Amino acid sequence: MNEHRFKQGSSKAPRMSFFRRNPPQADQPSEKEVSSKFARKRWGRWWALSLVTVLASVFCLSSVLTAHRPYRPTAPLPAARLIDLHAHTAGIGAGGSGCRISKDLENSWKFSIYLKAFGATRQTLSQNGDAWLVGQIAAQVAQSTSIHQAVVLAMDGVVDEHGQLDLESTEVYVPNEFLAHEVAQYPQLLFGASINPYRPDALARMDACAAQGAVLVKWIPSIMRINPADERLIPFYEHLKRHQLPLLTHTGQERSFTHAQDELCDPERLRLPLRLGVTVIAAHIASTGNLDGERQTDRLARMMAEFPNLYSEISSLTQANKLGYLGEALTRKEFDGRLCYGSDFPLINTALVSPWLFGNRLTAAQAVRIDSVTNAWDRDIALKQALGVPPEVFSRTATLLAPRLAAAAASKQLSRSADPRRAKSE
Ligand SMILES: [Zn+2]
Repeated sequence: MNEHRFKQGSSKAPRMSFFRRNPPQADQPSEKEVSSKFARKRWGRWWALSLVTVLASVFCLSSVLTAHRPYRPTAPLPAARLIDLHAHTAGIGAGGSGCRISKDLENSWKFSIYLKAFGATRQTLSQNGDAWLVGQIAAQVAQSTSIHQAVVLAMDGVVDEHGQLDLESTEVYVPNEFLAHEVAQYPQLLFGASINPYRPDALARMDACAAQGAVLVKWIPSIMRINPADERLIPFYEHLKRHQLPLLTHTGQERSFTHAQDELCDPERLRLPLRLGVTVIAAHIASTGNLDGERQTDRLARMMAEFPNLYSEISSLTQANKLGYLGEALTRKEFDGRLCYGSDFPLINTALVSPWLFGNRLTAAQAVRIDSVTNAWDRDIALKQALGVPPEVFSRTATLLAPRLAAAAASKQLSRSADPRRAKSE
């Protein structure tokens, strides 16, 4: 197009194209020049056509070779107990739960998406109380034919320099007391505690959570404003180890909230708890984001060789904003033997996750089948299994939590015998 628009005598040269290498001369071209111009044009067209043909052939060949090929060979689910390490609940404070969502988050477009993903509305929460949502999660886990239990996570808030809970700066707050009480009623749910280590009574809170059957402690350092490398946290880490509580901590960028201090989720900051012997599960293979000019996933992968007590998990890796990360998790040798299963419920119930995003990994028939599964956990597991997540990744969650599972079962037993009316779904 450019060469036609270019006015002879104009000082402005046209943009280069496949069909022209030099701008035309200002003077009228001679016959020889015209014929060589046409020769050049033909030559250029031939090259362009050849290039397009070669590229198309490479594309076709590669899609034939890679078409519908999962990241790893698929295998049946393990017979062992299958546990989801990473499921969320939330609340607006209804029914005296103590839960809270910040005004910023409530006013953001994300809030209605989360409510929908939970299968809730503001009205159902106001009418039934936040505890109702935990019951809904329990019902869905009970209906799942793939998983046996899910760890539902509390979410502690920001703690200010005086050691006080700073609710103004807290985006999501799900108190341990509320969640432990609700989870105790459902054998298919496990309690994931969340304790900001800057609370003056953090160790006593951990004792209480352990007694209530907590199977891990969860942090999102970037929104809870925790620096995992802070040496003042050493007593907290030693206490985690004493209780055999793994630390499940977010790594990589965090975009589920309205703001986040991403540098606090740097895997490199986990060296302190790792050196102290804490079992650390760095969530989401530190997917998305760079720090110091390096991919966060590369930083985490490098540390795997150094620390045998470092693990990661595959929750959120099938999301549209993280394409490629599941493949990386399953094929990089650094993550071999270190991954476990998590869902990041309710995000698996949003448009962010779809089998149709994996057109070159799944057949259309597989995508249709997976898409039609109504139970969120069954769908998540069917998708991950079809993409090649191996059985040991699904079963490793139970292995990692094993030291705590007996305590969790005992505390449920205790809670039910103390109040038999609370055993709701056995
Ligand atoms: Zn999460």
